[in-house]
Amino acid sequence: MEMDGNHRPFGNDNGRSIEVSFSFQRFAARVRVMAAIALLSAVALATMASASDRARPADIRVSVEQLDSGALRIAYDLKKPRRALAFGALAAGHRARRWKIDTPGFQLARLADGDRITRTDGAKFDRVVIVASPDLIRIQKNYQPIAAYGEGGVMVYNGHFWPMTQRGGRVNTTFSFIPKPGAKAVAFGARADHLTDWRSPMAHPAFIYMGPLDPVETRDVMAVVDAAAPEWVRDEFYTLTPRIFAHLASEFDFSLAVKPNLFLAAPLGREEGRLSYSGDALPAQFQITLEGAAWREPSPKALGIFRRSTIHEAVHLWQAAARPGSDEVAGWIHEGAADAIAAETLVALGLWDAAAYAADFDRARGECANALQGGSLATAEARGRFRALYACGHVIAAAVSWAEEETVSDFWKGFIAEAKTSDGYTEEDFYDFVAKRSGESEFVDALRYFVRTPLANPTREVARLLAATGSPLAHPLDAPLEPLDAR
Ligand SMILES: [Zn+2]
Repeated sequence: MEMDGNHRPFGNDNGRSIEVSFSFQRFAARVRVMAAIALLSAVALATMASASDRARPADIRVSVEQLDSGALRIAYDLKKPRRALAFGALAAGHRARRWKIDTPGFQLARLADGDRITRTDGAKFDRVVIVASPDLIRIQKNYQPIAAYGEGGVMVYNGHFWPMTQRGGRVNTTFSFIPKPGAKAVAFGARADHLTDWRSPMAHPAFIYMGPLDPVETRDVMAVVDAAAPEWVRDEFYTLTPRIFAHLASEFDFSLAVKPNLFLAAPLGREEGRLSYSGDALPAQFQITLEGAAWREPSPKALGIFRRSTIHEAVHLWQAAARPGSDEVAGWIHEGAADAIAAETLVALGLWDAAAYAADFDRARGECANALQGGSLATAEARGRFRALYACGHVIAAAVSWAEEETVSDFWKGFIAEAKTSDGYTEEDFYDFVAKRSGESEFVDALRYFVRTPLANPTREVARLLAATGSPLAHPLDAPLEPLDAR
């Protein structure tokens, strides 16, 4: 299946950053969990350069050179002269602030749905050079174009530098990466002094690391871990990820087609009570950014967040075998399942007992009910209630699998197998699969009602949906349910 070429941030959890503040005396204190999924509704689903493009010489060759200043010098060489280079949407005038055009006689214009570089005289051109600097502000709900890594390294998300076609697809482009002397470029399984005329094996925008860090390559992954990360974090990362990968490969019954990259950055900073984990997943890659001084010590809270969130991101790597077909597909489908499968994985790996699992599920159903005050799940994203996507998605993922007395990963194994033959699944495909699986249209009706209806009593409706699965796991939270028609 050809991946779409836009930068829809599937599994982009960076607005989800989990922030924990510690009170002075006591360990457990206020926990603030924010969730956000990127919603780039303006970006239409774009068709990727077709497979035949990969054999054709590139229409644009981009070279990305790492400078001593931490910035990147980026040269665009066009096979045929053009009047403009168009780039996709990126928050808050980022390019205008952080890109400087090095070639005289050019300008960058901000458009409603992106940015455009042209000559000031409007003439065609075949080469332009820019210098792009990392942002001082984290861009929420999207990938960072350039993220600073320890010891002068950078991680580039090439989707923000990749010119778009007029129809919103990606121009047939290759990238060359030129790290500073002594540094290496790392992308997927490759680690080299230079990458020349490179294309991602996933036919999709990707993360590329340039810097001095030595990646750690195992049978399953190529990992780049910031040397500034606390030792316990690095130990945990190296111990945990092979176990997660082995477990997920067995649960989903397939290994990843391309050796994935895991990147971990730890610009912890000095904020004492802060414990923030942001994750971004792309096909066959994920990156983690840890911020806050509370990461320095392996507190139970820090360990818990690290494990859970890392498994969540890893689940996205498997889910990417069957991607949503458009921006319109509800994020709760994959985000909630990633949370639910992470919970199952923690139990399977012996890191949680049954009580921890049950407590977590009760938290999810409570959070879901809370997030549905004031509107339906279907409108939660638009209302900015991002937590609903994770918590209610988790409840639904559990409900649809329990209805069949199977695990959430069993359900997703089937769903991926079904959906990967299509060009991308829709919300309807999800309901159809539930119906096909359970053979019960009543349950699917209950599910649609739960998703689409503003609920007067969300707590009761969560309980009702779970009770409809008939599973003993769906233990009622409070008093036994009254029948619908009672009183
Ligand atoms: Zn996610």
